Amino acid sequence: MTSVTALADPVALATPAFIALVLIEMVAVRLGARGDYDWRDTFTSLTMGFGSTMAAVVFGATIVAAYSAAARWHLFAIPMTWWAGALCFVLDDLLYYAFHRSAHRVRWFWASHVIHHSSQHYNLTTALRQTWTGFFSLSFAFRLPLLLIGFDVRLVLFVAGINLIYQFWVHTEAVRRLPAPLEWLLNTPSHHRVHHGSNPRYLDRNYGGVFIVWDRLFGTFEAEDDAEPVRYGLVHNISSFNPLVTATHEWVAIFRDLRAATTWRARWMAIAGPPGWRADGAGNTADALRADWLARTAAAE
Ligand SMILES: [Zn+2]
Ligand SMILES: [Zn+2]
Repeated sequence: MTSVTALADPVALATPAFIALVLIEMVAVRLGARGDYDWRDTFTSLTMGFGSTMAAVVFGATIVAAYSAAARWHLFAIPMTWWAGALCFVLDDLLYYAFHRSAHRVRWFWASHVIHHSSQHYNLTTALRQTWTGFFSLSFAFRLPLLLIGFDVRLVLFVAGINLIYQFWVHTEAVRRLPAPLEWLLNTPSHHRVHHGSNPRYLDRNYGGVFIVWDRLFGTFEAEDDAEPVRYGLVHNISSFNPLVTATHEWVAIFRDLRAATTWRARWMAIAGPPGWRADGAGNTADALRADWLARTAAAE
């Protein structure tokens, strides 16, 4: 039996490059490049990245076992070839879009993903600010269709790693715009800055991982407007650099809301409703904030 580790782990191989690029960006920002570093924020981001790696060690075997179990039900026997790798990469990115969109729209998933958005700064270390609790929000389950179609477990893990590596470099303010065809096709620093924005016009936009065309197709694309600088972070920012608070604050809020809920609808919405939902209707969901912004811009015209 071949081991699932037979393909090299691309993320482990890329880690020295991550560190080198962070150092280069820090120096560039010192020399005047656009960007913003705060040492407490950087410490939190790096600690979250380290903890996320530890969580992958703890839960990795279970995830691989789930993938291997799903692979036994495969529809096709897809060979390990270049074309299969390319197809798997594109389909994986489409599933990433579905995962990422639900991670912003369903609070149980958001409780894990919010960690990545909890920084009010935007630099390469923000890319490393990753969740510790992705396993509990079932983020791995979004890739199960690839195994059921018939892609090899090793190939699925490999393309997932490449996808993650690609998303590292878009977390920078130093790169403004790429040539137009690339901005049309790919997730770029400009598109992903929008994704990290808490301005109403930028909320819940640009979910794409590698390709931004999914957002163009499914109506969630918003271009960065240089006249409206991105305010990084959350609608309600956490006022803490404590990694434990960062990792758990939304889970704590869910359980607090569950205890306070008096109806089954409120309990359901506390888990599966959009982030910001409140039983009294006064909640700041992204849809409500965006609709409010659209109404204000229409009124101003
Ligand atoms: Zn996100
Ligand atoms: Zn990001």
